[in-house]
Amino acid sequence: MLRSAILAASRSARLESLLSKAPFSRDIARRFIAGEAGADAVRVAAELAADGLSTTVEYLGPETTTEEQAQATRDEYRLLLRRISEAGLAESAEVSVKLSALGRSVDEQLARELARDVCAAAADAGTTVTLDMEEHTATDTVIDTLEKLRGDYPSTGVALQAYLRRTEADCRELSFAGSRVRLCKGAYPEPESVAWQTALDVDKSFVRCLNALLSGPSYPMVATHDARLIAIAEDRARWFDRVAGDFEFQMLHGVRPAEQSRLAAEGYTVRIYLPYGPHWYGYLARRLAERPANAAFLGRSLTNRR
Ligand SMILES: Cc1cc2nc3c(=O)[nH]c(=O)nc-3n(C[C@H](O)[C@H](O)[C@H](O)COP(=O)(O)OP(=O)(O)OC[C@H]3O[C@@H](n4cnc5c(N)ncnc54)[C@H](O)[C@@H]3O)c2cc1C
Repeated sequence: MLRSAILAASRSARLESLLSKAPFSRDIARRFIAGEAGADAVRVAAELAADGLSTTVEYLGPETTTEEQAQATRDEYRLLLRRISEAGLAESAEVSVKLSALGRSVDEQLARELARDVCAAAADAGTTVTLDMEEHTATDTVIDTLEKLRGDYPSTGVALQAYLRRTEADCRELSFAGSRVRLCKGAYPEPESVAWQTALDVDKSFVRCLNALLSGPSYPMVATHDARLIAIAEDRARWFDRVAGDFEFQMLHGVRPAEQSRLAAEGYTVRIYLPYGPHWYGYLARRLAERPANAAFLGRSLTNRR
């Protein structure tokens, strides 16, 4: 119940404005979010790089409902990518972007053009882009956009969600040399018609997708904090003769940092999803709601302001 209350709160603009200014929210946010400005993201990415961790940086802007907002998001990514390049971080830092932030719901063609601009800026900076995956109604658009972008920017990657019934087939489809696929469980509430509903079914699908990716020539990016799935990925990678530079692990900033360090010390590439931006509250609420202990922590903070 606390989880759904927090998720509901994450969608309330009034609560967002109230809580994002509260000192306790900002204290908690520091664990999961680099800061509000691009410079904060670059600073934290440099600290993580010094610890042997790569990053994928995402801008948390306002919900995009106009063409101007979509263009402003594109401009923010251009600036971010310039900063990444100037800081000498292009080897370790890439960017993640949502087509919705680039105006998918305003005009799909516009979002594609702006995504192309972001890919061009990434190529100029010496790095690349991964397209986040969103609600299942957007999956075809995201994959179709990826295919078009890969024509000019072949290192562009995409996230796929193991909870979708279609994803094992998508993994096979995208399992070719040079294809960068981030496999995650999936973060949106989805109906039974398209998505596995139990944790066990999602985990089983994750393993089938892992097998499909690791057995082929693509570059899988295994995005999970789940200890059992990480152990299975390590085992499957050995089975398929994958060496450490042939695939990578990805985790969210602030989640299981000791495991991030352990995997990096084992020689794996570990990439940290590093969000920043003024609209961090919704992201924070979703991260806290993912874990009962975190949700209780936020619940206590909300009722017990210091
Ligand atoms: C790099 C990266 C990129 C992602 N990109 C996308 C995307 O494009 N589209 C999408 O739909 N989803 C995306 N996700 C989110 C993903 O789909 C899951 O919702 C999220 O990662 C939680 O799933 P899990 O695999 O960690 O497993 P879970 O079963 O949720 O968690 C396993 C264990 O990890 C730990 N843990 C997990 N979350 C937290 C937390 N917030 N705080 C503390 N401990 C935690 C706990 O110990 C938990 O028991 C991404 C995740 C990562 C890591």
